[in-house]
Amino acid sequence: MEKVFRNYNENSVKAAVREHYKKMRQKQTVAYVAEMKQKYLTFDKPMMLWEALSHLDDLIDVSDPDLDLPNVQHLIQSAEAIRKDKRADWMQLVGLIHDLGKIMFLWGTDMDGTSQKEQWGMVGDVFVVGCALPDSCVYPEFNHLNPDMSDKRYNSTLGKYEKGCGLDNLELAWGHDEYLYRVLKHHPENKIPEEGMAMIRYHSFYPWHTGHSYTALLKEEDKKYLSWIRDFNKYDLYTKSDRTYELEKLKDYYLPIAEKYLGKGPIYW
Ligand code: FE
Ligand code: FE
Repeated sequence: MEKVFRNYNENSVKAAVREHYKKMRQKQTVAYVAEMKQKYLTFDKPMMLWEALSHLDDLIDVSDPDLDLPNVQHLIQSAEAIRKDKRADWMQLVGLIHDLGKIMFLWGTDMDGTSQKEQWGMVGDVFVVGCALPDSCVYPEFNHLNPDMSDKRYNSTLGKYEKGCGLDNLELAWGHDEYLYRVLKHHPENKIPEEGMAMIRYHSFYPWHTGHSYTALLKEEDKKYLSWIRDFNKYDLYTKSDRTYELEKLKDYYLPIAEKYLGKGPIYW
């Protein structure tokens, strides 16, 4: 039988996934996101890329209904599939690092939802904060639990945004996508092309790239983002399997690509 991905039906999915999304919906507000940006975007913790990758051997993403392996295995599976399809080297690198923002669990806290135990501020599908939550979110029945949804400034279609303001002007729920994007944006040696940076920043934004919500907030140029992210999503989602790899054995192949686009020095997290 063909494997079904992203099945969130009550019986087939673990209670933990549902609970994760409930907390995420309850706690990810405009105020929370602003606070997390203040707190986590400090760029004062140097760490080599390969060391960061190895730390993801200690993290299992609780929001993922498809995979129970350490996150580093998912990164390798994605990268290897992109490599097998002979796609550009930068895209292979993006596959390998796209979830690396999850290393915030090393300095995260239960209270912020950025720890091993509490991951609602780190992983899972993201949505826009500051405007109405669409029904295309997973478990839309939790939408009304978000405190911003009883705040007049934030509970309308446009909320705090201007019509057609564009994807880059939206504030998404805090998590690993935005964190890695901002860390790399801040990294002086970053040469990952615009497409790759968009793949990193928006890959968890399912209500937009798969649910096609938020049309009033988008602008014409955002269409190019959509084609890039949908292209990347094939590798992020459909490569999940039980096959495991040894990270160290892949170093000879991927490290030179990483150095080409990110330099040889540490990245400041
Ligand atoms: Fe991700
Ligand atoms: Fe991923």
